[in-house]
Amino acid sequence: MAERNIQTLVCGECKSKNYHYQAGKKRADKTKVEVSKYCRPCKKHTPHKEAKS
Ligand SMILES: [Zn+2]
Repeated sequence: MAERNIQTLVCGECKSKNYHYQAGKKRADKTKVEVSKYCRPCKKHTPHKEAKS
């Protein structure tokens, strides 16, 4: 099994899984990732959060 830590970014408004990224070496458990990304379903920028795996 690959030890890649793939995270998913979910739109905060429509819950679409729009983005994937590979997490770094360290994982800060208490740090919530929130990034403003363009969401196609919403047709605008929305705050995207890291999905729980
Ligand atoms: Zn959206």
